[in-house]
Parts: sequence; structure tokens; C-alpha cells
Amino acid sequence: MTVCVVGHSSPDTDSVTSAIAFAAYLNATGTEAKACMQTTAADLNPESAMLLERFGLAAPETITDAAGKQIALVDFSDLAQGPANLASAEVVAIVDHHKIGDVTTNSPILFRAEPVGCTGTVLNKMFKEAGVAIPKAVASGMLAAILSDTVNFKSPTCTDADKAAVAELKVVAGIEDTEELFMSMLKAKSSVDGVPAKDLLFRDYKDFDMKGNKVGVGQLELATLDQVADIREDLLAAMQAVKAEGRHSVLLMLTDVVKEGTDLVVLSDDTALIEGAFGSKLEGTSMYVPGMMSRKKQTIPNLQKAFGC
Ligand code: MG
Ligand code: MG
Ligand code: MG
Repeated sequence: MTVCVVGHSSPDTDSVTSAIAFAAYLNATGTEAKACMQTTAADLNPESAMLLERFGLAAPETITDAAGKQIALVDFSDLAQGPANLASAEVVAIVDHHKIGDVTTNSPILFRAEPVGCTGTVLNKMFKEAGVAIPKAVASGMLAAILSDTVNFKSPTCTDADKAAVAELKVVAGIEDTEELFMSMLKAKSSVDGVPAKDLLFRDYKDFDMKGNKVGVGQLELATLDQVADIREDLLAAMQAVKAEGRHSVLLMLTDVVKEGTDLVVLSDDTALIEGAFGSKLEGTSMYVPGMMSRKKQTIPNLQKAFGC
């Protein structure tokens, strides 16, 4: 059976390019695999779509249901972020850089998670360890994923291992100017013109279980907060609709990657709890948190502490 390699729902560039890279790794090391993603090519986030086109990489196949399949996970291990029926599918490998989630297996598997800034960084090590050359386009995707996940090395999640991986992948990819690459990614990912508010909310969105409460956290990385000034009401309405589906809280991080801070928009059954999580007070429905860049390293741990997870 061909292994389907898939990243988390609402896939970001790391989830897309790591699926491509890990599928290439598995194929090169004797396991038949194909890259998949939990979206259609038409609905893929604009940054990843631009990168696939630029590097000449085929969009991974769409997967919505894992039933009866052999699955390899990249960039996540939470059932809530997987395709339908992941719990009953056969998970054969996991490569990640997040907290370990709630996926379990019946047999021993390849499980590789490291506290680095990007799954691409972990995969780069795996290729080296296996002595497998990374195809140029794949290396380009991995390089872009590291720049994306670490916000061009500015995120607190960035480690020396990520910088070292970029230095190596640059050579393989033949990409000299990573600043130019990052700015082209930022331009693509922060474009909001004409995009429905709900699509913006789900552009980079994850659900979490916090002590039995469903909490959704989206993030929009922006060159300036002015980009969303005219659509804040629309974004709130979209958040309200998503919250009404049975969530305790829906948060949207409007992150200014140049000023390095986040305007955090909050809809919650317990706003005091959310305020306490970030040591700040809401003005209306939002609060500006200087230095907040990372959902994984800053937003989620603070929420988990506040919820008593
Ligand atoms: Mg990701
Ligand atoms: Mg990642
Ligand atoms: Mg991300």
C-alpha cells in the first residue's frame, strides 16, 4: 500500500513541503509514498501556492478521509488536526516539531520530533543521515518552509539548527537571496484583498482541546496591521460563526511580522481567563501583545496554563 504523507489541516507551507519532502525520503529509502494535503490545490494558502509554482513542485493530492489507509504525519500529531478517521487508520511514521499530540499506534513506528523551528529542519537531518540527496525543488520547498515557520528567523521558535539547515539547503536549492524569497512569501501570504473573512480566519487555523473545551486559534501574518483595518468587523463575524459551532473560544492572531507583535482578537465564554493568559486587558474584542509571534511557543502554552491543562 502506498503511504499517504500528510500535514495538518489548514496546511501551511511546512505541512505542504514536508509532505513532499518526506514522501521523497520514503521513496528514496524503499517505502512507496505520496505527498497529500488536507485541502484542494484551489484552496491552498496563497504563500504555499506561490512557492509550488515558483519551484515547479506538484501540489500534493487531496486527502479528507484516512480510513483504511497507511498514513505518515508531518508537522502534527494531534487527531483534531488530521483527516477524518485518523484514529482508526494505520499511522506508520511521524516527523514533527510540535508538542506530542494524541495520536497512538498499535506497533512501533518511526517517530522523530525535535524542538526546532520547522519540520523541514528535521527532514534535512534525516536526508543527511540516510545519505540521500535532496532534489533541488524539494530543497527549495524545505528552505521556504523554514523561513515561513521561523518568520525569517525572528520567531522565538527559531533555533541554530534551523539556521544551519537554511545555510545547507540554500546551496542545494541554488537560492542566494533568502531575504528576497521571504519578502515574496510575506507579500503572498499577507494579501487579504478580495479574500472572504472566513477564508482569512482559516488560512492558518488550528483547533485545540483545552481541558474539554474546544479552542480555535487562527493567525494572519501581516506586513502591517493596516492591511486588516477595513475588514475587522468581517473577521469578527466569521469568528462568531465559528465559535457558535460549539467552541469555548476563538482567537485570531493578527501578527505584525515587521513590528514583531500581535493584535489578538478574542471571542470567548471566559474573556477574563484569556486576559489572564496573556497578562493584558481587552479593549473591545482585542489586545495588542508586543513580542507575540508564535502560536505554538507563546499563545498555546499560555492558554494551556490558563485552562489548567
Ligand atoms: Mg505547520
Ligand atoms: Mg511547522
Ligand atoms: Mg506556522
